[in-house]
Amino acid sequence: MSDLRDSRLAVRGSRPSAQSGDASVNESRTANREPRLLSVEHLTTGFDIRGRFVPAVIDVSFHLNAGETLCLVGESGSGKSVTALSILGLVQPPGRIEHGRLVFKDRDLRTLGEREMQKIRGAEIALIFQEPMTALNPVFTIGNQIEETLRVHGRATRRTARHKAIELLDAVSIPDPEKRVRDYPHQLSGGLRQRALIAMSLACEPVLVIADEPTTALDVTIQAQILDLLRSLQRKMGLALLLITHDLGVVAEMADRVAVMYAGRIVEEAPVNELFADPKHPYTRGLMASIPGGAPGTRLQAIQGTVPPLGELPPGCSFTPRCPSRFEPCPKAHPGTTVFSAPLDLPPEGGSHKSVESDSASRGFRLQAEGNHTTRCYLYSDAVEPETREAKRS
Ligand code: ADP
Ligand code: MG
Repeated sequence: MSDLRDSRLAVRGSRPSAQSGDASVNESRTANREPRLLSVEHLTTGFDIRGRFVPAVIDVSFHLNAGETLCLVGESGSGKSVTALSILGLVQPPGRIEHGRLVFKDRDLRTLGEREMQKIRGAEIALIFQEPMTALNPVFTIGNQIEETLRVHGRATRRTARHKAIELLDAVSIPDPEKRVRDYPHQLSGGLRQRALIAMSLACEPVLVIADEPTTALDVTIQAQILDLLRSLQRKMGLALLLITHDLGVVAEMADRVAVMYAGRIVEEAPVNELFADPKHPYTRGLMASIPGGAPGTRLQAIQGTVPPLGELPPGCSFTPRCPSRFEPCPKAHPGTTVFSAPLDLPPEGGSHKSVESDSASRGFRLQAEGNHTTRCYLYSDAVEPETREAKRS
């Protein structure tokens, strides 16, 4: 626990970046040394509805390093699935990507043709959906579908494909795989179907898996098993995981970093420990307060209201109408991004923020670029007078 408090101390003293600091966010992110697998840069995707472009994903930026898990979390309708579909080039008209770069292994996916994207989808980037029945074809056996995937991507021949399919079913702990490989999707339970879908998505040994609410349709015990499976496969195969969920319990279990989405925008991003220890955006705080599991008798606090419908964003910060901390600047313009940096190595108990930094510097500690915590909220923006900011935050 002291870890969390100390990182909070350090964070509090850091200086917010300039208003609309998206460029500075990207710069500070590219400073870290992990191999960058995917960068989503200023993505805006929306739908042409009655002659008007209506954005569902607005200026979204995040990145994913090899082997790590980023959770994209937010209420239903916040733009998580549209973000995933955009990365995979699967947004269908009247939807379209209006702006942004999607850089996967140094290639901008938006410049690739459909044939090249098909090679990447399924082989290098796999997608796991919420409802396996929609992804599996009901008229073919599980085995046929896995074998087809293997053959299309040149990972097996007609002779070797069956054997490989059985191996894959075994790898995702489907009991009796020699027999199950001949089953049709409807013959499997929900949990086994999701395992079969995971086997299929891993058939070509992808480096990135995008899992869109992979356990939402399953009951709680099966949900835990599927999360365990994803985690162990991730470790074994070194997969990066973009895990989309509305469930903070899943986030706490799985994430290295978390990006919180609200009404099409990422409103806060942080390493998971920091986010849980020190949520900054009032929306994130509202989500945290609505998690069951507090002391017996504690009332859960729901966030009042709902996500604004597509095309009906209020002026200024989209969260303003629901925000318990709203104040004078909020309805005027959307706030820029504020960056907080936390040191990697934490000081002894009781050290002040100042001593953290000087102490860290004198002992040659590395300041953590990867530890960036960002938020879009006037409570932290230097567009607001410091006294007003402090008064509102306390
Ligand atoms: P989430 O996955 O976070 O629940 P989505 O990404 O599915 O949310 O949707 C974001 C917004 O885009 C929602 O308001 C949704 O209604 C809208 N949307 C999604 N798909 C379409 C579509 N094909 N046509 C029009 N609006 C859509
Ligand atoms: Mg969705």
